[in-house]
Amino acid sequence: MAATCKQRVYVRGSYMPFEEDETHEFKGHREIAPEDTPPWAFRHPTESQSRKAISRNLNAFLNTGLGGVVYCGVDDRGRVLGLHLTRYQKDHMLLSVRCLLMRYRPAVPSARYRVTFVPVVSSAEVDDPPAEFAYDVSRRTKQHLVATSHYCWCDADARARSVSGIIPLSYVIEIEILPWADRDKALHPFYLTESGQCYVRRQASIMPAAALIRRQSEQMALQSQRDISALQARLDSGLLSKVRANIGKFIDVSEAFGSAGLNGRQYELDSDDSEDSWDAEYQPEHRLVASLSDGATVV
Ligand SMILES: [Zn+2]
Repeated sequence: MAATCKQRVYVRGSYMPFEEDETHEFKGHREIAPEDTPPWAFRHPTESQSRKAISRNLNAFLNTGLGGVVYCGVDDRGRVLGLHLTRYQKDHMLLSVRCLLMRYRPAVPSARYRVTFVPVVSSAEVDDPPAEFAYDVSRRTKQHLVATSHYCWCDADARARSVSGIIPLSYVIEIEILPWADRDKALHPFYLTESGQCYVRRQASIMPAAALIRRQSEQMALQSQRDISALQARLDSGLLSKVRANIGKFIDVSEAFGSAGLNGRQYELDSDDSEDSWDAEYQPEHRLVASLSDGATVV
């Protein structure tokens, strides 16, 4: 008998083995597009903050080129909660993701993403996960209402089942953006969201690309100013010490020449030099030493 692969599951209440980072994002809801969030949520600051549409995260994963996974049904601390979904609601989720990514500019090809429903079970069910409830195959061709906070028929169906005591299975929805793999092109494409925004991922957070560019420009300008100041300080310090050293050498040699009765030669060396011979801004040591060496050789 051929070996069968063990079905991958999450244990309800357990914690994910990693934290949110550059390629992992946890979401406790399944609101894919901004239109999926009910209007009342925007009137409550805490709700509007925690229920931001998943679109922003998917866009940021696309724009890093590294890809990433949004885990719906996992709270911010990484605890697995799961989302109860019927087969029809799972179809609805697939359509929601597909429709959203088709609204991006450019549209995201289906080869760039993958949606997986991983069952959430109790620790006692890990080795033998419960099966999905029976469903009517013909109803799977029925149209769904996506990109709206209004109830779809699949939600009404799920509610009716719940009233009857039929609780659908629980899942973590993994929406995966695959890494950019086209090695022939130097840079991965950038995508705008359905509302024309462009996000980038930074560790466990996202931010608009424009804000990131502005911040990095400010940091680069600040760093450049620091580099210039440091360089100026080094130049000032180096030039000053060289000028002092050369003046010291000049005095020493002058005194030596003077004691040997060669002051006229010193004058000749100075007059032969160009008028900027004492301009310490440009290689003063080389110019001064060379002149004095000539004089010394003549002597
Ligand atoms: Zn639906």
